[in-house]
Order: sequence, then C-alpha cells, then structure tokens
Amino acid sequence: MTTRILVTGGAGFIGSHYVRTMLGPHGPGDVQVTVLDKLTYAGNLANLDEVRDSPRLSFVQGDICDPMLVAGLTAAHDQVVHFAAESHVDRSIDGGAEFVRTNVVGTHTLVDAAHRASVDRFVHVSTDEVYGSIDTGSWHESHPLQPNSPYSSSKAAGDLIALSYHRTHGLDVRVTRCSNNYGHHHFPEKVIPLFITQLLDGGKVPLYGDGGNIRDWLHIDDHVRAVELVRTKGRPGEVYNIGGGTEMSNLELTRRLLDACAADWDESVEYVADRKGHDRRYSVDWTKIRDELGYVPRRDFATGLAETVRWYQEHRSWWEPLKARAAL
Ligand code: NAD
Repeated sequence: MTTRILVTGGAGFIGSHYVRTMLGPHGPGDVQVTVLDKLTYAGNLANLDEVRDSPRLSFVQGDICDPMLVAGLTAAHDQVVHFAAESHVDRSIDGGAEFVRTNVVGTHTLVDAAHRASVDRFVHVSTDEVYGSIDTGSWHESHPLQPNSPYSSSKAAGDLIALSYHRTHGLDVRVTRCSNNYGHHHFPEKVIPLFITQLLDGGKVPLYGDGGNIRDWLHIDDHVRAVELVRTKGRPGEVYNIGGGTEMSNLELTRRLLDACAADWDESVEYVADRKGHDRRYSVDWTKIRDELGYVPRRDFATGLAETVRWYQEHRSWWEPLKARAAL
C-alpha cells in the first residue's frame, strides 16, 4: 500500500535530499510525497529538478504557520516528515522573530493539525544544538536541553511541543537530533559552501574567533538514511541522536577546504570577531540509533568533502544567483 508523506521544507538543503532519495532509484517505491515549502530565501525549487517529473511528487508552496492549509494537507496524508525551519544561527542573532514564528508556532500548527487529522506518524527533524555546548564527552538523548542561540532555542521549543503531542494525545512523534550536515545543494551562507564558493571566486574566508570551535560533520546521505530509519523502524515518542563520526575544529576544516581549493592560508583566511554566544563544541552520543536501528555513518569525510567541492565547481549556475540574492 502506498504511504502518503507530507515533507515540509522539502525545497531546502536536507529536505530536498530526502525527497530526491525517497523518489530516486534506491527509494522505497511505495511512497507518494507532497512537499510543503514556503520558498523562503533558503528554499529553491531547482533543488527538486532531479525528481520534478516524478508522478509520485506534488509541490505546494505555502507556510507551515497557515492552519487552514496544514489542516487540509495533513488530512490527505498518512505521515509527516518535518524539515521546514529557519536554519541559520547568524540570522537568528540578527533577529529571532522569524525563528520563533516558523520553528515554534509553525511546528505547533503542524503537529496540532497532524493530531487532529490522526496521521499515523510525525517525524520532527531537530538539531544537536538544542543541548547547548559541551567541552568533553557527548550528549545522550536524555540530557537536558540548554540551547544558547535564538535558533537553537526555537528548535528546542519545537522539539518539546512535538513531544508533548505524544505524551498528551498519543500521537506517534519521533524526534531526530543530528550534527552539522554537509554536502551538495547547501545554501552558500553556511560555513562549508560559503568557504568553498569564496575560494572558488578567489576571495577570503571569514574564520570566527580563534577557529577552535568543534563540530561533528555528517554527510546528507547518512542523515537522510538515518531519518528514514527513524521513520520506518523508530519507536513512538523517542528521540534519536544522529552523528557523523567526524569531529573537527573550524581551523582544521578551513585547512582542508583550502587544500581542496588549492588556496593559501595567509592570502585567503581572514580572522573575524567571534559569533556572539558561539557554542564551543557539539557532540552527540549516537549509540541509541546504532543499537536500535543499525545506523552507522557510511560516508568518509575526505571523500564527501572532495565530492562537495567538485559539485560547487560544477554548479556555479546553482549557487551564484543565491549568493547574489542573499548579498553574501
Ligand atoms: P534550509 O534552510 O536549507 O531549508 C529550510 C526549508 O524550509 C527551506 O526550503 C524553506 O523555504 C522552508 N521553510 C522555511 N520556513 C518555512 C515555513 N514557515 N513554511 C514552510 N516552509 C518553510 O535548512 P536545512 O539545512 O535543510 O535544515 C532542515 C532541517 O534540519 C531544519 O529543521 C534544521 O533545523 C535541521 N538541521 C539542519 C542542520 C544542518 O546542518 N543544516 C543540522 C541540524 C539540524
């Protein structure tokens, strides 16, 4: 039987990769996908070009904060996979209102509609940033949420609201908290595509503070596989951390990107004032998803990064208009 899945934010970086994967040759086959996306500055229909002609794809341009729209859509679907969000920490520091609107009010609007429509599953895609910052060790799913930025706080609020619909109403809600994603189709304001596109243009890359902030990089192939494992095999009401297994400082990341683009450190790196409230280190313990669902990251970082650099070299027509539009 065909499962009708409503994918919010399916024109963004990760959501579009999920949709391309689901409707691609190695996807499950028995799914019908509707993308609901507002097409904000971060949304891009071109991200769905590969699957545009699929008879199993529908696209609706709209806002997850629109209760009438989401009531109608959830009523016509069996499951929801919720990626839509305002996702850029720096923008949330400049102004958090859109983050609260989409990530908190929008998530509530959607999960409430899902409950009223009795959808049989709601996967909420969240982030490791909800845990805060950790100097040593890794967060387990039961760790208290201590988010620091307006972005991560709005995501944490969304997580709690989504989970409350499981506890209160018995809705099958599953939450994922992943580490930093990388790969193709990544909006060029985020550090990896920003640095690559700057270097390809012979420009400088802005390195925050002392460059010692540490992130765990997760390839989008691994992330969407993990989300799909949670959707199909996860347990209701559970949270699953998703890690990439590649912990690295921004200094080391910059060095690797310079190497990949044959650029010189002294000519290309510009140290800039640190991001306000910059979290020093993120690290999730992902033994739960490994032991319960058999997830392990498969993409090797060096290969994944080289492929990503090559993709940006070959897809200027994708990123140049986005950079111009966002005045980056
Ligand atoms: P993105 O910014 O690339 O895409 C977000 C998409 O949501 C865009 O297509 C945008 O148009 C859409 N959108 C925004 N507001 C909307 C609204 N009100 N109604 C409908 N659509 C709306 O983000 P991404 O990097 O693909 O992130 C996807 C999800 O994964 C987000 O929930 C994010 O918090 C989470 N996440 C991302 C990362 C990462 O490294 N990129 C890491 C952890 C978690």
